[in-house]
Amino acid sequence: MSDKKKASLLVQGYEVVIGFETHAQLATQSKIFSRAPTAFGAEPNTQACAVDLALPGTLPVMNREAVACAIRLGLALGSHIAEQSVFARKNYFYPDLPKGYQISQFEIPVVQGGEVSFYLGDERKTVRLVRAHLEEDAGKSLHEDFHGLSGIDLNRAGTPLLEIVTEPDIRSSAEAVAYAKELHKIVTWIGICDGNMQEGSFRCDANVSVRKPGQPLGTRREIKNLNSFKFMQQAIDYEVRWQIEQIEDGHAIEQATVLFDPDTGETRAMRTKEDAADYRYFPDPDLPPLVIARSWVDEVKASMPELPRQMAERLVAEYGLPEYDATTLTQSPAMAAYFETAAKASGQSKMASNWIMGEVSRRLNNEEKDIAQVPVSAETLAALLRRIADGTVSNNAGKQVMDALWAGEGQDVDAVIEAKGLRQMNDAGALETIIDEVMAANAPMVEQFRAGKDKAFNALVGLVMKASKGKANPQQVNDVLRQKLGA
Ligand code: ADP
Ligand code: MG
Repeated sequence: MSDKKKASLLVQGYEVVIGFETHAQLATQSKIFSRAPTAFGAEPNTQACAVDLALPGTLPVMNREAVACAIRLGLALGSHIAEQSVFARKNYFYPDLPKGYQISQFEIPVVQGGEVSFYLGDERKTVRLVRAHLEEDAGKSLHEDFHGLSGIDLNRAGTPLLEIVTEPDIRSSAEAVAYAKELHKIVTWIGICDGNMQEGSFRCDANVSVRKPGQPLGTRREIKNLNSFKFMQQAIDYEVRWQIEQIEDGHAIEQATVLFDPDTGETRAMRTKEDAADYRYFPDPDLPPLVIARSWVDEVKASMPELPRQMAERLVAEYGLPEYDATTLTQSPAMAAYFETAAKASGQSKMASNWIMGEVSRRLNNEEKDIAQVPVSAETLAALLRRIADGTVSNNAGKQVMDALWAGEGQDVDAVIEAKGLRQMNDAGALETIIDEVMAANAPMVEQFRAGKDKAFNALVGLVMKASKGKANPQQVNDVLRQKLGA
């Protein structure tokens, strides 16, 4: 990075330093150490079994599928997958954790190292990972509808999580959001997490500190449970301003855990931060070390899809797309597949990209639909693009065809073009007749043009287009009109 770029990242002369801890709920059918279901939204306390509560006499049994998810993540991020990792008890008291400890991994996590790369504008950034470890989720405290009392719902207890921890490599709130979006894209892409942030399937904790450039790391505060990208940016921006203000006022930052309140836009200290020692970690005697055979890793590797970044690079190379288009189109496997089918079937890659990022995405957004629910197939879009490319319809008329296709008024592009009378006039004789008529009816305008008023030309083009009911080819109108005016 250039010195100028570095300087532009500073906030009031301070460098922002952020490290992320993300909890991704794994998309397994059952809990991490029991056979209880993980489905969201069931009646409170109907989905936690004796193992999830660690009742006496029960024993946890590792869910193989959760381990497979960890292997997939490790492979996707270029991490080392530990041949042997260890589960530990993290001891603390909280009402939503009646068993008194959380089973997690401490000294030896299953996924070690790796990195996440993404573009911020046109600059490529890489954030290094420290680790990703398997652990169980806790229950939930419910503070609504209990006449002043709180309720405990233990359905979430024992839900498998991967906690993905970065080095403090992030340097701004924008970078933090770009990192979180990229990680979100990866975990959903490889199918290990449904990514539903409202339901808490993907929750981020941002560790934030500030320092003068060149100084050692400042003391961090950890903003917990950021569950939307918008709040993430707001919370970090507020926290950075707050920390700088404290330091400028001569106060030291105290390590703490804070919550973001979307209503006030402020972060608020929840508790002072515990140290690892406070948790009295020790290896869980109920669980043997997790052993992962190389052959299992190879098996998982063979089932991995092409990853978003690799795919974006391929779209650039294979279809000649700009980096921006390739990144946008690799939002999800379904979007990328839609593009590739439309590009191949139409032979119009850039046009397909423009239409999908523009016309298709706009309509999907308006209707709050996902690409999986798109009412116009990629093949149909391709047929439309071919008709625009060969001049049968203008780009504008193509949008009207799209409206009709979208509304379900038929799926045959040529039939829709005929039914709506949108065929572009490519008959030179008919066009000349119209132009002659327009010129005869607007003799003063023709005179003005000949007298040097260039604007009159555009007015004449407009009149011809109108007389053709929009079906004339604008380029052709231009050419023929110029010729007739002797220009
Ligand atoms: P803990 O065990 O208390 O959670 P870690 O050392 O595991 O602490 O760090 C947690 C997260 O905080 C990591 O993502 C790390 O990169 C980040 N982090 C550590 N120190 C700082 C700092 N001074 N400023 C910002 N982030 C930090
Ligand atoms: Mg931590």
